[in-house]
Amino acid sequence: AYQNGHLTTGFGINSVGKIPLGLKRKGLRIVVTGGAGFVGSHLVDRLISRGDSVIVVDNFFTGRKENVMHHFGNARFELIRHDVVEPLLLEVDQIYHLACPASPVHYKHNPVKTIISFFLCVCLFEFRYYAYVILISQFSIAWTLNMLGLAKRVGARFLLTSTSEVYGDPLQHPQVETYWGNVNPIGVRSCYDEGKRTAETLTMDYHRGAGVEVRIARIFNTYGPRMCIDDGRVVSNFVAQALRKEPLTVYGDGKQTRSFQFVSDLVEGLMRLMEGEHVGPFNLGNPGEFTMLELAQVVQETIDPNAKIEFRPNTEDDPHKRKPDISKAKEQLGWEPKVPLRKGLPMMVSDFRQRIFGDHKEDSS
Ligand code: NAD
Ligand code: UDP
Ligand code: UDP
Repeated sequence: AYQNGHLTTGFGINSVGKIPLGLKRKGLRIVVTGGAGFVGSHLVDRLISRGDSVIVVDNFFTGRKENVMHHFGNARFELIRHDVVEPLLLEVDQIYHLACPASPVHYKHNPVKTIISFFLCVCLFEFRYYAYVILISQFSIAWTLNMLGLAKRVGARFLLTSTSEVYGDPLQHPQVETYWGNVNPIGVRSCYDEGKRTAETLTMDYHRGAGVEVRIARIFNTYGPRMCIDDGRVVSNFVAQALRKEPLTVYGDGKQTRSFQFVSDLVEGLMRLMEGEHVGPFNLGNPGEFTMLELAQVVQETIDPNAKIEFRPNTEDDPHKRKPDISKAKEQLGWEPKVPLRKGLPMMVSDFRQRIFGDHKEDSS
């Protein structure tokens, strides 16, 4: 199902992730920040196949050129190596803003920059006709608000990829968009959680105050081909560990839950959200909920039934459970995920196998 860097299921016109009629508008100029990353690169594939011109802006902090190099030579594709905290001249119709250190290992590495990334990117999208982003030598919210103020004078549609982390360690289950969350503001995860929460706030303030067209997606745990192999997220860890014949590291008692969404479902949701009428926020996730021990079991079934499990101490402030209520997305976007974990995981395993061992052996499961 996964060959030469491309998913051959889930993205075709007649397959799982088929392009709905409403999404057939052509010829837009679209910026995808973080477009060389895991989710971004799959989104770029869909946009290019739809006929849009795509500019990827990425500093390769966790993204890889390999994720998008199959578009090199295509006149509708541009790749800019650029850090979104620096100024940038762009002319665009839409911005999908994904750039962000997204895994706990990475965002804890540079918490100040993580929180700043959000502010700046809310600003980028409005620089439509060669307006500029002012060089930010001092990172402060005030400066960012100034840029937002400057930005509101032009009109492009902006989609913020927020996160289920805005719900923190949720006291409501499953999580509905109206729930305000339970975030520890001084914890090690808060640079990410509060960064995204503030980005949502700024986005909505510019929508309400300046009439900027915005869309907000709250993305739940997503997996699939091209995930960063060693980024510490649980699915990539377990898959890489099982392939390398290492024990699967379960943190804590393994009874905490997450709900895992295959990347093609997310991309479909993001595009429907961008093209639709509704601002959001929308939960985009697969309601199929698993404990980490159950996930380890699925990985064992898929890769190696003899894979061992090793318990490790859990990380601070780890949310105990997480599952999206997607009624709103179903009703207003006509969207729901199609790929269950047991179908999506083998596609990711083929990709990881190729990247770890450099071979093209088909997944036997
Ligand atoms: P990823 O790490 O694969 O992609 C992020 C991309 O942003 C990378 O290519 C990275 O190089 C780039 N980037 C980071 N900082 C940058 C900067 N300052 N300037 C330019 N580029 C920069 O992560 P992903 O899983 O593809 O996540 C994409 C978005 O979706 C992120 O905003 C993330 O917060 C959000 N999200 C993802 C998940 C998930 O489970 N994958 C869940 C919730 C939210
Ligand atoms: N701003 C700016 N350049 C502009 C427009 C606004 O730097 O082209 C600044 C402005 O000085 C203010 C901030 O952005 O400090 C917010 O601007 P906005 O117009 O949103 O709010 P207001 O100026 O009405 O308070
Ligand atoms: N986790 C685990 N083993 C690992 C990595 C993570 O058991 O090797 C757990 C982690 O404690 C958390 C869950 O898996 O409870 C999801 O972690 P991840 O970092 O993938 O996503 P997030 O916590 O951001 O939802």
